[in-house]
Amino acid sequence: MPEQRHVYLDHSATTPVSARALAAMLPYFSEIYGNASGIYLQGRLAKQGLEEARRHVAAVLNARPSEVVFTSCGSESDNLVLRGAAWSARQAGRGNHLIVSAVEHKAVLDTARQIADLLGFELTVLRVDGQGRVDPDDLRRALQPETVLVSMMTANNEVGTLQPIAALAAVAAEHGVPFHTDAVQAPGHLPLDVQALGIDALSLSGHKFYGPKGVGVAWLRSGLSLIASQTGGSHEGKHRAGTENVAGVVGLATALVEAEEMRPQETARVLELRNRLLEGLPALVPDTRISGHPHERLPHHASFLIKGIEVQGVLMGLDMAGIAASSGSACTSAAQAPSHMLTAMGVSAADAVGHLRLTLGRSTTGEDIDYVLSVLPPLVARLRQ
Ligand code: PLP
Repeated sequence: MPEQRHVYLDHSATTPVSARALAAMLPYFSEIYGNASGIYLQGRLAKQGLEEARRHVAAVLNARPSEVVFTSCGSESDNLVLRGAAWSARQAGRGNHLIVSAVEHKAVLDTARQIADLLGFELTVLRVDGQGRVDPDDLRRALQPETVLVSMMTANNEVGTLQPIAALAAVAAEHGVPFHTDAVQAPGHLPLDVQALGIDALSLSGHKFYGPKGVGVAWLRSGLSLIASQTGGSHEGKHRAGTENVAGVVGLATALVEAEEMRPQETARVLELRNRLLEGLPALVPDTRISGHPHERLPHHASFLIKGIEVQGVLMGLDMAGIAASSGSACTSAAQAPSHMLTAMGVSAADAVGHLRLTLGRSTTGEDIDYVLSVLPPLVARLRQ
């Protein structure tokens, strides 16, 4: 019997650690193990690794190293910015209104809702169009003198749609309101120049771009007023207490630099393969349409609404054929309720159960795409019977 193919198409959920990132991390587990706060040689070496990593991340973001805060994940970075901005405003008596979009990851949406519930903030959740985009004019209308932060994701994890971040940030800037973007899905796929984008804060997560899990970045423009959620020691410019995960941070920084170096070629390569899915699947599987924006979307991201099936059956059938895929956000795929992102885009509950996400990466080949396109049509036909 021929060996079964293994095709991993869930790179928006997570990625493997690259060989270069792993090699950079290894010495920090067992050789350079000092606490970066120590004044002795071992501590100084760890501190050097930490600060070099900070410079590398800052260079990719076109920012200052002192503006880079290392956290434990993308969710923590989102929490730090939203909560920190709300607390800081409360402390200064500066206003009590937040604006987010309806398609934010729960790390932003639920945090904003909690701030509204517990601190009595007013929360505006901006609607999106059928392809998942926010209209900058809607943001303009929603801004108030009381607004203390706008948070809009760079790219959506479920449907891949890109937001017009520079345009949205410009609207917030006209009103002097800080603008945060959850850019967790962006590295390796989109430029991350925070000056060109005109933003004030940004969240990243190492495991989405071939770095390790358990480490993230909150980039905070200097002067942005935030109160730390995690208190204790004075690590990370007093923005985030806790002994630094030096190995993780070095792995994240190495992976980010590598992703940025590979971006032009890898984006072009993956885009061509992805487009074969976007064109091929609706042609081969009747009653199937693309979800999200047809071209203002992440280059490695394909997602579909397949009518008349429950996607769990498709995912199990794909798994039996050696193909790893997902539906909606990996964080909520076990939940039965339709995804809040699809609902916000006007997708009915009946259609949302047929949402399939295929996200490509460095390991994806043309043969993988041929294989998926050969497995899916008969699988869907069988399930529809
Ligand atoms: N924001 C977005 C857009 C995501 O896709 C994810 C993870 O899927 C997160 C935030 C959370 O990141 P982390 O898993 O590092 O907490």
